[in-house]
Amino acid sequence: MSSVQIRDVRKSFGNFEVLHGVTIPIEDGEFVVLVGPSGCGKSTLLRMLAGLENITSGTISIGERVVNNVQPKERDIAMVFQNYALYPHMTVADNMGFSLKLRGAKPAEIATGVKRAAEILALTPLLDRYPRQLSGGQRQRVAMGRAIVRDPQVFLFDEPLSNLDAKLRVAMRTEIKELHQRLRTTTVYVTHDQIEAMTMADKIVVMHDGIVEQMGSPLELYDTPANQFVAGFIGSPAMNFLKGNVKVNGAAYFEGPNGVRLPLKSAPANSDGKPAVYGVRPEHFTIADDGAEAEIVVVEPTGSETQVFAKLGGEQVVAVFRERHLFNPGDKVRLKPDPGLVHLFDDANGKRMS
Ligand code: ATP
Repeated sequence: MSSVQIRDVRKSFGNFEVLHGVTIPIEDGEFVVLVGPSGCGKSTLLRMLAGLENITSGTISIGERVVNNVQPKERDIAMVFQNYALYPHMTVADNMGFSLKLRGAKPAEIATGVKRAAEILALTPLLDRYPRQLSGGQRQRVAMGRAIVRDPQVFLFDEPLSNLDAKLRVAMRTEIKELHQRLRTTTVYVTHDQIEAMTMADKIVVMHDGIVEQMGSPLELYDTPANQFVAGFIGSPAMNFLKGNVKVNGAAYFEGPNGVRLPLKSAPANSDGKPAVYGVRPEHFTIADDGAEAEIVVVEPTGSETQVFAKLGGEQVVAVFRERHLFNPGDKVRLKPDPGLVHLFDDANGKRMS
């Protein structure tokens, strides 16, 4: 096992710079998820870690060793891809043992490695099958088996669950997390799915347009997003944003669209009248007599909760309630954000205001 250090890494394709100086410390045994919208550069960064892409500038170290010029096969990493890349003409056992064979391992050593990985992943009964005889989830487990059989210093995952249906994705998410809890191998996992990031990561790195917007534990990012981008990206359904002005007129409050008055616990220093964006997560609304009047647009009951789209100050917001509500479109309700849990962002640059 090993730590990984990514220091001021840049990447250009021709004249086009796609990573603008990215620094990410990764501790030994940590499960780090790189998350961000399509095109933010997360796969490129993972490919650079794997050695499949040159580093334009900066350094990447695995353990004590700078690996910028180290060949992929010399890096002691194992990568699991989105499409699994299994060999169709080989059995599960041969697929899993292939990388050991390539490295010149003896048959007995290969058999032991495959047996151990198969036991960890509950693949023992499937060792003689071919990939075409497996379900999507089983293929995914074989791809992971192929990675763990070598006992590498670092696992790299590139959107490994995106080809699976929703239910299987949730199950595999838990399997990968459990596997990591068992093996404690340093892991870097790329996804565009913030729920995967939230549920699996020790540390999430939110990327956007070739930079790191914020890194921290899932709950740090959820509780104190550094800017509006992170606030909108982490959490589902996404945080509501309402533009307006901070008011400190006796007690602090926020004057939202069309003068709607929204509660604040306190206002940042010298912010009276400042244009700002008020952020409230759907799950942080309550229905209260002193809430702001809103008009119901659509109600979506999921059984466990009720998701409500409503117009607040003329803007559409989404609210999620744990309890059941029998609202109808057009009903008026009073929505109150929990003042202790709302966020304020500077309207000029999107940064969190203290
Ligand atoms: P996705 O989730 O869609 O895979 P991503 O965040 O992983 O997106 P990358 O695949 O790393 O993004 O791509 C980052 C940027 O680099 C994109 O603008 C992409 O078009 C560009 N890019 C990637 N590979 C190359 C290449 N070989 N040549 C030129 N540009 C490339």
